This record gives sequence, C-alpha cells and structure tokens, in this order.
Amino acid sequence: MADCIFCKIANHEIESRIVYESEDVVAFQDANPQAPVHLLIIPRKHLESVQDLGAEDADLALRLLQTAARLAREQGIAERGFRLVANAGAEAGQSVPHLHFHLLGGRAMSWPPG
Ligand code: 5GP
Ligand code: ZN
Repeated sequence: MADCIFCKIANHEIESRIVYESEDVVAFQDANPQAPVHLLIIPRKHLESVQDLGAEDADLALRLLQTAARLAREQGIAERGFRLVANAGAEAGQSVPHLHFHLLGGRAMSWPPG
C-alpha cells in the first residue's frame, strides 16, 4: 500500500533495524522501544489488523506466530517470558494500520495493560 509506513519498511524504502525477513514476513526493532526487547513482526501483505486475516491467510498467520516464538528464543527472552501483542483499532491504541505483533520482553510486566 503506497502510503503505509510498514509497507515501506518491508520494502526497504524507509530505514529500520530489520532482524528477520522472509518471503512473507519481516521483523524489525520498534523505533520507540517499551522494553529491552521490542520487535515488530509484520506480514509483507498489507492487512490493516487481525480483523483482516482471512482463511487464505492461515499459513501466513502461523508463520507470523512462529517467527515471534523463534525470535523470542533468539533474543533470549523465551525462558523468562515475553508478551506478544497485536493492538487492533482506536481503543486499543493501534497507531499504524498495518497488522503487526509487538514482541516485548527483558523486563517484568504488569497486568492488566494500560
Ligand atoms: P501500535 O501503536 O500501532 O500498536 O504500534 C505501532 C508501533 O510502531 C509503535 O510501537 C511505534 O513505536 C512503532 N513505529 C511507528 N513508526 C515507526 C517507524 O517508522 N519505524 C519503526 N521501527 N517503528 C515505528
Ligand atoms: Zn502496509
């Protein structure tokens, strides 16, 4: 999608610290990290949020989640615990309308979230 910041990151049109990329998934460091580890995991395909995932995206959804789990291991936070968050819509505070999972870890977290 032409004006989408995360599409541009996935296409290397905007600089970011990419930690993983494949044919259909990209992961990069959040520009404003909220924890020692804060990665964003996105599909290359422009979907606005989890609401847009269709049956045709089943493999993609699995790969997004598997990528998150593998990156958690690689970043050394799998054993301690981590949080995987997908904000969807205004009240959740979604600010970039391209589906993304936040992978957060490296510190103790509270619940419920703010
Ligand atoms: P949301 O609020 O939509 O759940 O999360 C959007 C996230 O994208 C925020 O944590 C924000 O810091 C991050 N972000 C926004 N613009 C950029 C950018 O240009 N580069 C990177 N690396 N992260 C961004
Ligand atoms: Zn996009």
